[in-house]
Amino acid sequence: MATIAMKFGGTSVADLERIRHVASLVKREVERGNKVAVVVSAMAGETNKLVAWTNEAARPLVQDGSNRIPAAIPDQREYDVVVAAGEQVTCGLLAIALNAMGVKARSWLGWQVPIETSAMHGSARIEAVPAADMKARVAAGEVAVVAGFQGVAPGSRISTLGRGGSDTSAVAVAAGIGADRCDIYTDVDGVYTTDPRIVSKARRLEKISFEEMLEMASLGAKVLQTRSVEIAMLHRVPTRVLSTFTPDVGGTLLCDEEDIVEKKPVTGIAYSRDEAKITLHKIPDRPGVAAAIFGPLADSGVNVDMIVQNVSEDNKKTDLTFTVPRGDLAKALAALEKHASEIGYRDITHDSNVAKVSIIGIGMRTHAGVAQTMFSTLHDKGINIQVISTSEIKVSVLIAEEYVELAVRALHSAYELDAA
Ligand code: ASP
Ligand code: MG
Repeated sequence: MATIAMKFGGTSVADLERIRHVASLVKREVERGNKVAVVVSAMAGETNKLVAWTNEAARPLVQDGSNRIPAAIPDQREYDVVVAAGEQVTCGLLAIALNAMGVKARSWLGWQVPIETSAMHGSARIEAVPAADMKARVAAGEVAVVAGFQGVAPGSRISTLGRGGSDTSAVAVAAGIGADRCDIYTDVDGVYTTDPRIVSKARRLEKISFEEMLEMASLGAKVLQTRSVEIAMLHRVPTRVLSTFTPDVGGTLLCDEEDIVEKKPVTGIAYSRDEAKITLHKIPDRPGVAAAIFGPLADSGVNVDMIVQNVSEDNKKTDLTFTVPRGDLAKALAALEKHASEIGYRDITHDSNVAKVSIIGIGMRTHAGVAQTMFSTLHDKGINIQVISTSEIKVSVLIAEEYVELAVRALHSAYELDAA
């Protein structure tokens, strides 16, 4: 007998029939003698619809007769009130469906659990889950059906955790009630060596270390929200990724590095099209310039990722290139233009037709020549590398977006990840 947290994503609760199927999977665990807390997402597509409404509502009326439609950012506290609504519906429906099957269950909204978060509305971080009441009821045999994605911020306002956030809710709930494991049910049967939609020979991984999964998620693999992996790693929650539709086959276990016997140099390949590149030409080569550039960007909430600075030929002027999320490009350019005189650049160029491809593996620590294989593979395909960045267990390159699929396929073969 165990205490488990189960999580079901949007496609798993897309309609009532699927919600009943989810209820039957929960019931099965209860019949095995397990105590269960289940976390749900909104029905597939629902959150997108709610987000679009908030943008529409925030748009000011155009009265100048032009057809220029100004965009405006909605108040993030009200945005959260709206977008959190999708999960309220599915958690209530699942509780009803469970009771209809004779399984005692009740719904819990974020503030009721409570899932306490920071005040960063729209992308709040979970700070604590003091779920004593819920924990006691779960222990007494009542299934807790928790609304994912939402929490409560200081001042008792509803918050949300950023897109894909119900993975994080699930792992945090698992940690909060001291669950023995967290099972994330989704529309794929595990974590793959790369995106199977691009590489048909991608293989499911039996196991992946927390560290590698953290890199995979933050470098673009969409299977889990990055923060959920951080919490799983921090609280050492054994976490599995499984398919809702074929729950008894496959699956991937997130585990400690020591539990992985065969350490290949590269475990997986991730890519992200959510990239834009900015180059500042002819900036002064002197102390304080990097701070003058990245300070304003940080202040406007732009996350800078890869950075390269060239050596200056004359010790006076140099060029600096870096990447930002594509959606933040306009914000970043505005911040740089506003501080143009302090920074002292000649001009700015930018490019959104770029993508980042990354190889990830704990085996990299002990194998030599791993990066070289990447560079020569891309060279063989005639793909130019624009920026490189590395950490102990990953190498990322920025390339033209049109070559992403070619690069990922070629690297998947080069590192011998293709399924037989
Ligand atoms: N419903 C939210 C979203 O679409 C949270 C989630 O599905 O994890 O982002
Ligand atoms: Mg998701």
